This record gives sequence, C-alpha cells and structure tokens, in this order.
Amino acid sequence: MTTTRRPEEREESAAQNFIRAIISEDLEKGRHTKVVTRFPPEPNGYLHIGHAKAICTNFGLAREFGGVCHLRMDDTNPTTEDVEYVENIQRDVRWLGFDWGDKLFYASDYFERLYAFAVELIKKGKAYVDSLNEAEIREYRGTVNEPGKPSPYRDRSIEENLDLFERMRKGEFAEGAHVVRMKGDLASPNMKMRDWPMYRIKRAHHYRTGDTWCIYPLYDFAHSLSDAIEGITHSICTLEFDNNRALYDWFVENVDVPARPRQYEFARLNLTYTVMSKRKLLELVKGNLVRGWDDPRMPTLAGMRRRGITPDSLRAFCEEIGVAKTNSTVEVEKFESCIRADLDRRAGRVMAVLRPIKLVLENYPEGKVEEFEAPLFPDEPGKGGSRKIPFSREVYIERDDFTLDPPDKWFRLAPGREVRLRYAYIVTCKDVVRDPATGEVTEIRCTYDPETREGAAQAGKKVKGTLHWVSAAHALRAEVRLYDRLFRDERPDLVEEGQDWKAGLNPDSLVTIQGAAVEPSLAAAEGGQHFQFERQGFFFVDPIDAKPGAPVFNRTVSLKDSWAKIAERKQEASPAGKKADEAKPAVKTSPEERLGKLTPEARAIAEALESRGLGREDAIVLAEDADLRAFYDQAVAAHPGPKTVASLVVNELARKLDGKKPSALPFNGAALGELASLIDDRTITPTIAKEVLAEMLTSGEAPRAIVERKGMRQVSDASALEPIVDKVLAESPNEVKRYKEGNTKLLGFFVGKVMKASSGKANAERVNELLLKKLG
Ligand code: ATP
Ligand code: MG
Repeated sequence: MTTTRRPEEREESAAQNFIRAIISEDLEKGRHTKVVTRFPPEPNGYLHIGHAKAICTNFGLAREFGGVCHLRMDDTNPTTEDVEYVENIQRDVRWLGFDWGDKLFYASDYFERLYAFAVELIKKGKAYVDSLNEAEIREYRGTVNEPGKPSPYRDRSIEENLDLFERMRKGEFAEGAHVVRMKGDLASPNMKMRDWPMYRIKRAHHYRTGDTWCIYPLYDFAHSLSDAIEGITHSICTLEFDNNRALYDWFVENVDVPARPRQYEFARLNLTYTVMSKRKLLELVKGNLVRGWDDPRMPTLAGMRRRGITPDSLRAFCEEIGVAKTNSTVEVEKFESCIRADLDRRAGRVMAVLRPIKLVLENYPEGKVEEFEAPLFPDEPGKGGSRKIPFSREVYIERDDFTLDPPDKWFRLAPGREVRLRYAYIVTCKDVVRDPATGEVTEIRCTYDPETREGAAQAGKKVKGTLHWVSAAHALRAEVRLYDRLFRDERPDLVEEGQDWKAGLNPDSLVTIQGAAVEPSLAAAEGGQHFQFERQGFFFVDPIDAKPGAPVFNRTVSLKDSWAKIAERKQEASPAGKKADEAKPAVKTSPEERLGKLTPEARAIAEALESRGLGREDAIVLAEDADLRAFYDQAVAAHPGPKTVASLVVNELARKLDGKKPSALPFNGAALGELASLIDDRTITPTIAKEVLAEMLTSGEAPRAIVERKGMRQVSDASALEPIVDKVLAESPNEVKRYKEGNTKLLGFFVGKVMKASSGKANAERVNELLLKKLG
C-alpha cells in the first residue's frame, strides 16, 4: 500500500506519522467524513509520559483533521479502579492542553449493552459458557505449534448457555466457576482467536456501578465494542495489541453494532532511566519510595507538572519522536533537551547560591549598598524587564566555585586569582579564614577593583571566570530540592531473574538543601513560576510547599545538555565497518548468548521486534544492524507483515548483500514489502519468492511485474493441482501403502514431491487438503 501525504501536512510535522497517512486516505476516499478517536485510560493509576504520547496522538489527530477525540474511562476491572484516578486523569489531560468537550464516557456505562451483545453472540452460536478452570483453559488452548482442543463444554446448547449466563449474572456461581468464551478457531496460529474469554465472574465492588454486577466484560470484548458504540473511526493503541486486532475485528463483525471501527497500532514510548508501567509506579507510591504520585521524580504527568516541566515541552517532545511502528527506547536526554528549549524561552535569569560560602571585600566600605539593575533575559534585550540586585561588602558565592588547590584550566576563584562577580566588579582573592579545629575554609577574603564595574567604560579588563553571588545581608533563605534520575541504570526494568527492580533506585535522586541563599527579588516568587538560576539550572517554585517569603524551589532540569553529545556519539557509532564484524560472529553462539551481549538499546529493539512476532534470531540480526533494520522498517511500512518481511530480509536478503549496505540495492524497502505481500496474500509461494528476489537483485524490477511477466502465480486451483497430486501418488505406491497403514508422517513427503513437480508454484495448503482427501 502506498499512501500520499498532502504537502501542507508534511510541513506541519517533520516526524513521520503513518496513522496520519491512513486517516488522510480514509477521508480522501470517503470511507469516513469525520474522524473520531479516543483515549481510553484505565482509572487504576495516574497518567505517565507514555500516556502523554497516546493523548497527543489521539487528540492531536482529531484536532488536525477537524474531528473529535473521546475520553473514555476503560473501567471494566473493579478491583483496581478508583474515582481518585478518574479525577486526576481528567486534570492531566486538560493540563496537557486537550479538551474532550462533552465526550467523556465510561465503559462501565455500557455494561448493560455489553451484556446484551454477549447474549447476542450466544444466540448466534458464536459464544458459549465454559466451565473449565483457568489452568485447564490454558492447557486446552494448545501451543504455538499445536492446535487447541475443544473444551468439553464447547457444544453446550444455546438454551443452556443462555441459562448459565443469566445465572452467572444473578450471582449463582462462585468466581472462576464459569467464563463466557467467543467461539473462534482452535487451530488459529493467533492464540487470541482460540476461543478467547469475554466475560468472567468477579465479586467485587465497582467504584461506579457498586454491587450491581458480579460479572465483568474482559478487555478485547469490552474495548472493541465500546469503540463501536461510540462510533470511533480510528482506534489507536500500542503495538502489544497487534495480536488482539483479529479478535477486535471479530467482535465488531459478529455483533450488530452501529459502527465499524478499526484498530491501528503504534510503538509505545519507552524512556531510558524510567519505569513506565502503572503497576510499578503504584509499587513505588505504596512502598513510600517516592512521595506520592506527584513526586517530581515520577514520570507521571502530575509529577512532571510539580517538577516544573511544561505541557508545551511534553507536546514538543511527543511531536519530535513521532509515531513509529517499531518499539524503541528514547534517551531521556532527548526529553530533557526539549524541556530546556522550552524553559529557556520562559524562565527569567536570577542568582541563587545553593551551597554558600562568605566572601568579604576588604576594601569595600562597610554599610555601603549599591543596587544593580539586571535584566531577566540578558541575552534578549527588551524581553521580560529587570530587577534590582543589592551589592554589599559581604556576599555569598558557591562553595564549589572556590578551591585552595586549582587544577589546570580552573577559571573560578582560588588564592591569588581574579574573577568577575556577575553584574558587579572584578575581585581578587587575598586570603582565607579557616576553622581552627578542622582547617576547613569558612571565609574568603578579597579586594575589589572599583574601576571594573560591569558596563562601566573602564571595565576593559578581562577575566576568564564570572561567578554568581548574593549579597549576604540581603539574601533570602530558601529550600532547594535537587532532583535527579530516579534510577541508576539506563534500563531499570531489565533485571536479572530473582532480582528486585527497585534495587536499582538512585539513592541520590533527591538532595534537599535547606539554607540556599537566593537573591531578594525571589521573595515575590509565586508557586508555579519558572526561573533559571544562572549557571545551574531551571527551577520551579513548588506549587504546594512554597509559602510567601519562604520559597521552595524544585530543580526541573540542570543546564548541562548532554543530548547533543549523545546524538553525536550515535552518529559516530553507525559507520558500517565495525558493525559488520559484530553482526556476523565468527563462532556460532546461541541466540540467548547473543541477546545477552547486545547493548541495552539493541536488546530493547530485539525484544520489541520479538514482541511483534519475529523469531529471536531474526530480531537479533535486525537489532544489531541499523541499516538492515531501516530497510526492514521501510518494508513493513509498505506491507504490515513483520514476520514475512523479517524472514525475507534476514534469511534471503542479508546473505545476498555480502557486506554491502541495503542502500546499494537496485530496489527499496517498499519493493521488498510488496514481495512479502505477494507471499502473504498467497499470490506466490515462499519458494517462488526467492526466485523473484533473485530477479529483483539483477533487474530492480518490481516484484508484481516479475510475477506477472513470468507467470509465477501460485497455483491454488484444484483442477490444476489434481493431476500433479495423482501423478505423485501413482509414482510412490510403497509410501502410499505405508501411509494407509498409519504412517501419517509421510504426508510431508508427498507435499514435498507435489511442490517440486509444480516448480514450487503449488499452494501448499491446497495440496495438503487434496492429499488428505485422496489418501482417505
Ligand atoms: P501501563 O502499561 O503503564 O500500566 P496501560 O496500557 O495499562 O499502561 P491504560 O490506562 O490502559 O494503561 O492506557 C491508556 C492508553 O495509553 C492505551 O491506549 C495505551 O495503549 C496507551 N499507553 C500506555 N502506555 C503507553 C506508552 N508507554 N506509550 C504510548 N502509549 C501508551
Ligand atoms: Mg491497559
């Protein structure tokens, strides 16, 4: 499938967004006239930055296409949900800058309708009450390699099912005694289609429906049908749900509903140094490992708001990372960089000394006070106004800005050295005062040069260092909370078996300073204001703990931007040479070992690919090779069949590349996607696909054109296949005899022969069916 984007959309966002392309096309082709999306949080915790990504995507797309986005509480699990969460979710979505108008819904409001839908399915013979227990259901479901077995209750009569379901509702049975399952396909390769449960008994009080119900609908059933009830057009969720899509479609197709929504999946947001699951965040809160859901170290929107991160920077970040189809972990530094960019515009510059040491100017008259007019945005004349800073004989400077023993390139203060005090004078260190007991420096003695007042005509003299300071007599004492990453490791959720992920908490994630000396203008600071403390970072007046005259500042983010460096390193690491060696290990190691040797980032990529259904080996090869992966992504974007594409890229194409980059090929990823689509829609067999690929490599011709030109279409027609099957059976009388005696493993032998006789063009499934029929 190729889609075109209108030029104005391309301008709007540099980030690639395949969902935007789908919606555009749906509108252009008249499949929908109005876009309706939804954000469906479960009210069992606070929203986090991952949800912000989903909110921006859903509300953003609705806004962009002139549609609406519903806010729906996905509250079908009574045990964990609460009205506190409902309220905070609404607050957070609003804070992020989005509005659902009058479209606030609750899945629990649909309980009666959902019940009726289940009855409808039972009446159609498409759902049944099962009385196996959970473990038995799992066992009967089979494995990826073996089909499931029917439950002994699968063929209950419609009347019996209806009766049991009604009695489930009335509360006649214990939890677990019965479940309602859809009647799917027990041999389906997709486990979700093997009679997935849709209703269960749960004796729990629901925060909205109270004790009205003792049966509750399960996710796939409730979610798809709630979407249909609300007339959602594009139901956007994260990649883990791609297996659920078949089930989603099954429900909306088999129940008489007013609309036909479709599900699309995008990559969930993961951040380094961050855990994102609500379950884990709840554990941190419950265990008092943080100070509640709004602790500024939490990745929750409430925590971020309190830390001073703005909704603008969150939205900018979500836009920048875009909507992708492969999971990856984004460096938290990238997010921090967005925060800085935003705060840089809005935070006035002030001076605050976090760990003060006194500096005395011996030649400055005692009792004299000068006032300097200092702009809040010194680099942008005219913006934000200015404030007055008092200067006197005694000032505080940062303890860290002084050393007795300066290393090379020390431009700050040390005995005999000169520095400038910001907005004021150049001072020279003459002496220090020490604590007689400990020897620790307690005071720095300096002289100042009255000719060097900043901005004065004679200020000519240059020094390398400029320090921030606060007049000791005028300093306002403040509490400053220095927040750092909550976890020490880049991937805090990847812990060895048996280890507790909470052991990875950073013990220094919060350092509280009680007696910081801040400039007196900050006495007027109000909760919710942003400042840049010069040379240190962006700070936010804590909206809860700050009192008039006794401010509390949260460090939102330090000034040091490490993202640029990381981005540079990533660039350097990508040239082909080194990587090619790593991708082809000389000694064959097991996939588990190889997985263990990946960098945390590559490992995350491999795991994400696996979760999309790729085999581990294929996932590892792609995780290790960014160029190959880019090619794979391109192919999957053209044809969303990750398994088939991966198999072609890793098993066929990588070998042919022989060290060359995919960009050297005479075709692009989309062409390979087209080839995969021909396999998946059974136009050609995988064997023929290899031939087509060989042709593509030499001519660069499009796969479909090759197939048509060379007549390579798969043969599915029984009348064409039958003669070949007959011939093969006639040629192997002994095998036929042994098969009929019970050696059914020989089926594969016959299939192989037929495939060969048809030059690989026979549809293997049809051949199987034919053989089974003929062999009895
Ligand atoms: P968690 O896994 O953190 O507990 P969840 O998926 O169970 O989250 P929901 O309240 O069900 O939480 O999520 C609401 C919506 O937010 C869903 O559509 C879900 O796909 C989306 N979402 C959740 N986490 C992320 C994430 N990390 N990135 C993008 N979207 C997310
Ligand atoms: Mg969920």
